[in-house]
Amino acid sequence: MSVQVVSAAAAAKVPEVELKDLSPSEAEPQLGLSTAAVGAMVPPAGGGDPEAPASAPAAERPPAPGPGSGPTAALSPAAGKVPQASAMKRSDPHHQHQRHRDGGEALVSPDGTVTEAPRTVKKQIQFADQKQEFNKRPTKIGRRSLSRSISQSSTDSYSSAASYTDSSDDETSPRDKQQKNSKGSSDFCVKNIKQAEFGRREIEIAEQEMPALMALRKRAQGEKPLAGAKIVGCTHITAQTAVLMETLAALGAQCRWAACNIYSTLNEVAAALAESGFPVFAWKGESEDDFWWCIDRCVNVEGWQPNMILDDGGDLTHWIYKKYPNMFKKIKGIVEESVTGVHRLYQLSKAGKLCVPAMNVNDSVTKQKFDNLYCCRESILDGLKRTTDMMFGGKQVVVCGYGEVGKGCCAALKAMGSIVYVTEIDPICALQACMDGFRLVKLSEVIRQVDIVITCTGNKNVVTREHLDRMKNSCIVCNMGHSNTEIDVASLRTPELTWERVRSQVDHVIWPDGKRIVLLAEGRLLNLSCSTVPTFVLSITATTQALALIELYNAPEGRYKQDVYLLPKKMDEYVASLHLPTFDAHLTELTDEQAKYLGLNKNGPFKPNYYRY
Ligand code: NAD
Repeated sequence: MSVQVVSAAAAAKVPEVELKDLSPSEAEPQLGLSTAAVGAMVPPAGGGDPEAPASAPAAERPPAPGPGSGPTAALSPAAGKVPQASAMKRSDPHHQHQRHRDGGEALVSPDGTVTEAPRTVKKQIQFADQKQEFNKRPTKIGRRSLSRSISQSSTDSYSSAASYTDSSDDETSPRDKQQKNSKGSSDFCVKNIKQAEFGRREIEIAEQEMPALMALRKRAQGEKPLAGAKIVGCTHITAQTAVLMETLAALGAQCRWAACNIYSTLNEVAAALAESGFPVFAWKGESEDDFWWCIDRCVNVEGWQPNMILDDGGDLTHWIYKKYPNMFKKIKGIVEESVTGVHRLYQLSKAGKLCVPAMNVNDSVTKQKFDNLYCCRESILDGLKRTTDMMFGGKQVVVCGYGEVGKGCCAALKAMGSIVYVTEIDPICALQACMDGFRLVKLSEVIRQVDIVITCTGNKNVVTREHLDRMKNSCIVCNMGHSNTEIDVASLRTPELTWERVRSQVDHVIWPDGKRIVLLAEGRLLNLSCSTVPTFVLSITATTQALALIELYNAPEGRYKQDVYLLPKKMDEYVASLHLPTFDAHLTELTDEQAKYLGLNKNGPFKPNYYRY
């Protein structure tokens, strides 16, 4: 039996998502690509992709995809395929607060006005009537001071991943530079185009760990499922994103890109993309004004209009909604990756203002069960080690929140011999923690004795000033959640406490009696601020994004309405199968008899939408 979750509107009437039975044939998601493109892409059950290379040579890099230069071949929709909206919809969004791109929170009012909740600088971003006066830009000093006011260490706040070329001494704003790539194009704005060669090396390294995207490039060679797609993107600009963008281009799309975070751009990678012909507008340490200017440069361009959006955080989507609403007449869909952006989409949907279909990648199994869990399991130790050189064995650690991120952190620390305590508000996650062998406590019970406190709740004020006052000397305090509100860092900025910056991203906060705590990344997300994150996990998320774009772009009229959808499960399964060959994993195939017994199609989907994994 297969199931489909009914629409958000219907779901809103009942407290839980309501499940509706469908016949197996109805429930089977259609991939929406031309037969050769994705029919050939989706492997048979038990397959994985025997042809998927562990890596691909640089020669497979796609051609430059600037406006007018991309392929224009029309897609031939799959003959005989029935339009089918088979994605699961989430019921009402339950978070009132949304996280913003530099770790602050954002509140979204029903009219779409986005207000940043208190962080270091309180600011309201209004889209509608507040004209962005790009020419009245802050002076060089003004720009710097804005960045500084957000984070004292703005230039090293994110992407501490290898940066080959240090251009931090170059104070000229990229907006004031006249730069051209080797082909004479100036349709980009990056820190320094001369860093392109170093960025290319970063991208080539990332390609080694992104087998599914490389396999997609190879498989789609004959046919281009994204031919004619004009994708405007706003995501972290890293080597992994570059591999995604070059894959989208190889599949036929034209792309224009801005950064979703003012700190996270890897300048060398942005330069490499610009050199390859991608109109990229991003650099590390943008001001707020630069941020919106870059987004605008991606969207507001003569003779080019996007027809797909790939967003991380919802800022790009909102910019288009407020500044260029007519563009939505040509936009076929939005793919959104983040919790924040997804909340915004659900709010638009609820208000009846969502005018195109949107794909919620954040809640895809292949994002949540891999990015949140495995990424954090791999990177928590790295972040702690790089900042403090600490030994984990025998140390007492309390992890606040036992969701996906908390589970990953706890598993890694336990494996290193730490004594791990967990705090939870949800009895189900609490019981999981107990059954996994962790002591479930209230934070106040262990706060005096622990060596490390890690927050992973997505909540606010989980660690309060009272907790901080009671911590023992040298206690390390850090956050793995998206926003910088989990630890009440603001409460530490009082005259009686002394702050001492001991390393990049490491502050000692000293009490009058000499006690000090070690605060990492000023309470911002530790792994993205202080370590690298595993490319392979990002490959899974990026492949999910690519398939979501392909699905929305190729879906026949009527398959998706103006609502928020999850990626069809069969595609989630496909994303997973593309990553199996890396492990030389051999999947078991259902026999005909077994498939009949379980009521499954031998080629999947293998689980109903409500299955939790
Ligand atoms: P989740 O919802 O699965 O888990 C959060 C858990 O915290 C829940 O079980 C909840 O009950 C618990 N919780 C809430 N308030 C609490 C409190 N006051 N005390 C104790 N427990 C509390 O979410 P998740 O997928 O684990 O993500 C958690 C956060 O991490 C989110 O902000 C998410 O955006 C972020 N995230 C970070 C990374 C990273 O690389 N660092 C990756 C993915 C997600």
